[in-house]
Amino acid sequence: MQFDLLIINGTLMDPGFGFTKKADLGIKDGKIAKVFDEGKLTRKVIDKFPAESIVDAEGAIVTPGLVDIHVHFREPGREDKETIQSGSRAAAAGGFTTVACMPNTQPAIDNQETVKFVTSLAEKGDCRVYCVGAITKNRDGEELSEIGDLVKAGVVAISDDGDYLQNPEMMRRALEYARMFDIPVISHAEDEFLAGGGIVNESFESSRLGMQGRPAVAEEIAILRDIKLAGLTGGRLHIAHVSTAGGVEAIRRGKAEGVKVTAEVAPHHFTLTDDLIGEKFDTNLRVNPPIRSEADRQAMIKGLIDGTIDCIATDHAPHTEEEKDVEFDQASPGMIGLETSLGLAITELSDRGYLAIPDLLRKMSSNPAKIIGLEPNSLNEGEVADITIFDPEARWVVKKEKFLSKSKNSPFVGRKLKGKIKATVMGGRITYRAK
Ligand SMILES: [Zn+2]
Repeated sequence: MQFDLLIINGTLMDPGFGFTKKADLGIKDGKIAKVFDEGKLTRKVIDKFPAESIVDAEGAIVTPGLVDIHVHFREPGREDKETIQSGSRAAAAGGFTTVACMPNTQPAIDNQETVKFVTSLAEKGDCRVYCVGAITKNRDGEELSEIGDLVKAGVVAISDDGDYLQNPEMMRRALEYARMFDIPVISHAEDEFLAGGGIVNESFESSRLGMQGRPAVAEEIAILRDIKLAGLTGGRLHIAHVSTAGGVEAIRRGKAEGVKVTAEVAPHHFTLTDDLIGEKFDTNLRVNPPIRSEADRQAMIKGLIDGTIDCIATDHAPHTEEEKDVEFDQASPGMIGLETSLGLAITELSDRGYLAIPDLLRKMSSNPAKIIGLEPNSLNEGEVADITIFDPEARWVVKKEKFLSKSKNSPFVGRKLKGKIKATVMGGRITYRAK
């Protein structure tokens, strides 16, 4: 059998199907054509193969492609921060083969044309890009988008991310539509009146720093309302970037009551705490919802362990140097995350014994895929070759100049991480290979 690509010497780990084994993969026409049990692929075949079409996964884990359902690629409108092209390159470098883009572009992704524009640009990119459509026109919370049209154009969810849909009656109708089309409504759950113009978590730290706080209750109330409405309508609700202990508890209770609610956490919310802000006033630590307390961080980890939090999503939010090189309270909120997500997850969750690697991978691949209605990636023969290859033991230091994202706004620069992407394969093509 002729192959286009070989992935050899790796340990296959497909948490969706529950197997881990040493094996080689033969890829042909974008699909996994053959899984060779250890030693079955002969040296003769390998030696005849061109080096550029072999991925040597010695010491590495070969796993179904990672999926991130919360990224901001800024195109159309702010191509100086990120484009579909640069964003998808960063995604591939982070081991992702599929992402979902939030609709807060300029113009917003609230119509079929913009969905088609993003989708067509993505065809030339290095990962699969799906669109989340805006719940309301121009994301201004006033009038529902043509949700049926958006679904026809291919959106996998709807969200006004960046803002909370403050009007509960409109949220109720959005959930009713979403139920009809079997897509989730993704909620950026922070009540805008309570969050006000807050800059950091409302806490002892915010008073010490003299900065206006965003209270935990802004998130808790927003989540509780949306869970009530999801229960009423039967629509699927997904809570974006949960950050508070109370928020996690509300989701836990919602699930126990049978409400169709899922949730994600961003790596920065299970890694960082708000006492770091006063150290250097690194503006890359400004993000909405804000970095919270140690108790909140512990609640994120507990939520991941007990399944309350279904998946990890980066909320990759690129900003230019000019937008971050200002006073802390003037800085645009958000940080990039695609290229540090797996390393942070392994370092902070697996290495500390909170989540075994297969459980972690489920939260970064099959679970997020299911939330947006995609078939989870798999390593079985005949499946599409969307594959992530990483060394779980490799240690590395995050370097600003190494980011493939157009923007460099990461608070993790200089941090030592464990777990490094070796290569990413999307549709049988190598989209990233570590040098
Ligand atoms: Zn958000």
